[in-house]
Amino acid sequence: MINLYYDYLAYILLIKRDIMDFTLTQEQRIIISMVRKIVKERVLPRAAEIDRDGKYPEDIFQLLKEYEFLGMTIPKEYGGAGYDVVTFCLVLEEIAKVCYNTAYILVMTYVPASCILEAGNDEQKRFYLSRLASGQYRGAFAVTEPDAGSDIASIQTKAVLSGDSYIINGRKCFITNAPVADFIIVFAKTDPEAGRSGISAFIVEKATPGLSIGKIEDKMGGKGVPSAEVILEDCKVPKKNLLGQENKGFKIAMRSFNRSRPIIGARAVGLAQGALDYAIEYAKQRIAFGKPIASFQGIQFMIADMAMQIEAARQLVYKAAWLVDKGNFGKEAAGIISMAKCFSTDVAMRVSIDAAQILGAYGYVRDYPMERYIRDAKSMQIVEGTNQIQRIIIANSLIS
Ligand SMILES: Cc1cc2nc3c(=O)[nH]c(=O)nc-3n(C[C@H](O)[C@H](O)[C@H](O)COP(=O)(O)OP(=O)(O)OC[C@H]3O[C@@H](n4cnc5c(N)ncnc54)[C@H](O)[C@@H]3O)c2cc1C
Repeated sequence: MINLYYDYLAYILLIKRDIMDFTLTQEQRIIISMVRKIVKERVLPRAAEIDRDGKYPEDIFQLLKEYEFLGMTIPKEYGGAGYDVVTFCLVLEEIAKVCYNTAYILVMTYVPASCILEAGNDEQKRFYLSRLASGQYRGAFAVTEPDAGSDIASIQTKAVLSGDSYIINGRKCFITNAPVADFIIVFAKTDPEAGRSGISAFIVEKATPGLSIGKIEDKMGGKGVPSAEVILEDCKVPKKNLLGQENKGFKIAMRSFNRSRPIIGARAVGLAQGALDYAIEYAKQRIAFGKPIASFQGIQFMIADMAMQIEAARQLVYKAAWLVDKGNFGKEAAGIISMAKCFSTDVAMRVSIDAAQILGAYGYVRDYPMERYIRDAKSMQIVEGTNQIQRIIIANSLIS
């Protein structure tokens, strides 16, 4: 009898722990309305221009700094605002509705910060996180190489310990933010024979002799945030800049990806919602056959399908963000986090294409934003693990 009682108690506790509350807090509502105002007044007027110019929008970085968005999820003890990932996703979603590049700048603070938060020692956290939060430093995250993208274990960059320093040699590519970053988290082999168990992570200051920026990619979208080659030639990095333990870099990368996938998802949901909102307004104004096209059932069904997909993606993304906030990166959680990244970014791609269809020819020209949304959406199916890789993680979480 006693055993049954304890089983029942455990069951109740388990249920209670898993209950999700969908209500936004008063503070989250205030944050959202503040972000909407800033976005409308300061970001919206710049969005198309940033894409067209293809230059890093320093004014936007300063704006994010001014409103203290950069350190939103960095703990207070390291100079940030200490918000949870769910609240950060709400902010990103609002920004991405209007300007992918602005949301991208924010993501590029979160990614290196979460990596340091994940594996850094107290000294590294105090130094780098406080600088990221204040906007004094910008960071980048460098795993990909010309011959190793999805297959991280086959990276060729090597780090050899020599006295008090590691000597790093190799070539990274597509490294977002590298041209503007003050430091880059570089993944390199410290035990080349050990595959994924031979990778280590290093915080490499940009000014380190031997580090240079190579070709800046001419990307299809995300044009305001540069992605570039990072060349490391006998780059001497102090031993104290090893992030986490030697040969534990693969795990650091995987856990960092888990932390950042909901963030990519929030950006995707925001982009899709922005595209849908624009398409609805357009459909209400555009007259064909003597009526607004919004009155045609063919258009209404498209709008309903788009809204349905976005809402489903949103629920997955916030569940994933909630799992990250709980520090849950177990196999089942990793599967859900990958579902959120994969589904939301596929939705962003489909919805932006459908939104452009609703605009007809105007969806295809640069005077209207839909072609930009399509170009920006595409990259999210590739970054932080392609959507094929997400499907592998999901299947592994279910089968093995
Ligand atoms: C805009 C942008 C920004 C980026 N920023 C960064 C950054 O900041 N830092 C960084 O390190 N990298 C960055 N990348 C690189 C990105 O992480 C890689 O492009 C990605 O991991 C895929 O690697 P790959 O391009 O080499 O493709 P590959 O790994 O060569 O894959 C090619 C194709 O094969 C598929 N594929 C591969 N393996 C499998 C498999 N086992 N089963 C099924 N399909 C498979 C892939 O899904 C893909 O469709 C960025 C890329 C882009 C486009």
